[in-house]
Amino acid sequence: MAPEEDYFRLSGRSANDFSWWTSEIEKSKAFDWSDYLLPNLEIEPHTLSSPTLATAVEEANGAAWTVDELRSAVEAYLDMMAHDRAGKPYVKKQYYEKLAGKFNRTAKAFEYRMQNISYVLSLMGRDWLRGLKPAKNVGAQVAGQIEQLLAEAEGRQVAPIVAFEIAVRDEVKKKQLPVPTGSDSPQPFTSASTQYARDPEIKAWILQQAGGVCECCKKSAPFKAADGMPYLEVHHVRRLADQGSDQVSNAVAVCPNCHRELHYGAYSKQLVEQLYLSVERLVCE
Ligand SMILES: [Zn+2]
Ligand SMILES: [Zn+2]
Repeated sequence: MAPEEDYFRLSGRSANDFSWWTSEIEKSKAFDWSDYLLPNLEIEPHTLSSPTLATAVEEANGAAWTVDELRSAVEAYLDMMAHDRAGKPYVKKQYYEKLAGKFNRTAKAFEYRMQNISYVLSLMGRDWLRGLKPAKNVGAQVAGQIEQLLAEAEGRQVAPIVAFEIAVRDEVKKKQLPVPTGSDSPQPFTSASTQYARDPEIKAWILQQAGGVCECCKKSAPFKAADGMPYLEVHHVRRLADQGSDQVSNAVAVCPNCHRELHYGAYSKQLVEQLYLSVERLVCE
């Protein structure tokens, strides 16, 4: 059974490119589909439709996106995010169509790429643009490129983690992993990362206000630190990397569980909304 014209279009191919299609079929037989076919928290039912599969095939088979295409997608993503934050009106579809006009891809292909960018940001513990639910059908290599391009566009140093995390996820979903050998002497390497100057008075004030109780789950700090202080961490609700301020109106004291969830949780956006409602001093940035 041959696919409809739409299939080719979604895959960024010219209509009825059957020789490409037959080669894709061969390759897709070798691809591990389990992740796309099983119910999973990170994939909403609507993203399980065939276009996602088409994109996944394309990804798995390295019908390569050029750096230029990826860079343009990343820049458009950050531009949409800036509009969103500033409360300025913008239409996502117009961004995709503009990109589609510039490159030989469909607007839909760019939309999925944007969801991959959300996924890369989520692996970095960063905020992503609402309405662009993270889609994990992206290979480690392209994801690593996206990570680099984000750093480049934001003028930051990159300490790469995304390709590693995707490799971990690819392994985890395999059945019955043999015990790996690992290394008895991991190679050290030095990487530069961008830090932000923070005021110790802000952190001290926030910790004092919290009085040893997590401002997110409202439970006591889970343990005492070596110096006897209740262990809580200070989180910037709008991340410093997202141009958030280092002020008491943007910081909370949270337990390590809540802190991780705020960065990596599937429901982190809901947690943030809850914080804005329950912690009066917070101002949405
Ligand atoms: Zn907590
Ligand atoms: Zn944090």
